[in-house]
Amino acid sequence: MVAAALERRRRITDSAYRVVHAEGDGLPSLIVDRYGEYAVAQLLSAGLEAVRDDVIAAIRETLAPRGLLLRNDAAVRERERLPREVTLAFGEVPEPIEIEEAPGIRYLAAPWTGQKTGAFLDQRENRRLVGTMARGRCLDAFAYHGGFALHLAAGGATEVVAVETSAEAASHLQRNAALNGFTTIRTVEANAFDWLKEAAAAGERFDVVVLDPPAFARDRRSLPRALAGYKEVNLRAIQLLAPGGILFTVSCSHHVHRGDFFTMLADAAADSGRRLQLLEIRGAAADHPEIVTIPETGYLKAALLRAVD
Ligand code: SAH
Repeated sequence: MVAAALERRRRITDSAYRVVHAEGDGLPSLIVDRYGEYAVAQLLSAGLEAVRDDVIAAIRETLAPRGLLLRNDAAVRERERLPREVTLAFGEVPEPIEIEEAPGIRYLAAPWTGQKTGAFLDQRENRRLVGTMARGRCLDAFAYHGGFALHLAAGGATEVVAVETSAEAASHLQRNAALNGFTTIRTVEANAFDWLKEAAAAGERFDVVVLDPPAFARDRRSLPRALAGYKEVNLRAIQLLAPGGILFTVSCSHHVHRGDFFTMLADAAADSGRRLQLLEIRGAAADHPEIVTIPETGYLKAALLRAVD
């Protein structure tokens, strides 16, 4: 089944992508990501742990990586009383690993310590889309290692402001910018809620805004608060758009369903008084398959919008 999953991804030319997306590939609770010559996996259930050796053997046989790292430190493992640990299954896996993402952007994945398995692979195709929209003054809010910022810089933005709260992530972002020789990215270490509010109050304007916050809803109960948070940042982002400006906005919360997301967006647009045109509805990259009968596989909701006025 791992081989069949790999076969479905044979057209991907980027060097890092998801090979197995759990239920999305008929392999519940198994994640396998390829980072160039290396592989990183997550075994997220006791059932899978019971056949751990077979899983490792299947990955070795199919991908023949120079090393396989197990990022079994996800919190979900605690539900089945499994230990949270990061271990090397075989070979060697360096930190960082240099990755190439079309159109020729390089970034450093952090398999041992980064979020998820070392990078946000689910936004791979969305980053490319946003790169094609780049112009003038751009903003990447909740930037992490600058995935979107790098594509905006490569696309010809004159200035990219990248806002990120984690000092570690912000310095990693600067390394990524330097790796590509980009001089137009300005990293701001700040809470994006405060930063967006102040920038909007100051009347700042951007031609492209990317809003890719972390999951605000940890469970269904926290949904109202989460939606209020999403609305707040989306309202500010809309206010920041120059006439004709582009907004790419995302929610990766499992508990925020597609309908909730678009209702929130309509509320924010209505409050802003701006007229927003929906250009594209997006989800996760195709290597994170969404199965229509398994709503959980469709956790990433995104919209590409244009401020008409
Ligand atoms: N767009 C990125 C992924 C973003 S993940 C990519 O494609 O690779 C979300 C990021 O938001 C994380 O790096 C996290 O540190 C950051 N973050 C969380 N809360 C924040 C806040 N209040 N202000 C700014 N950044 C925040």
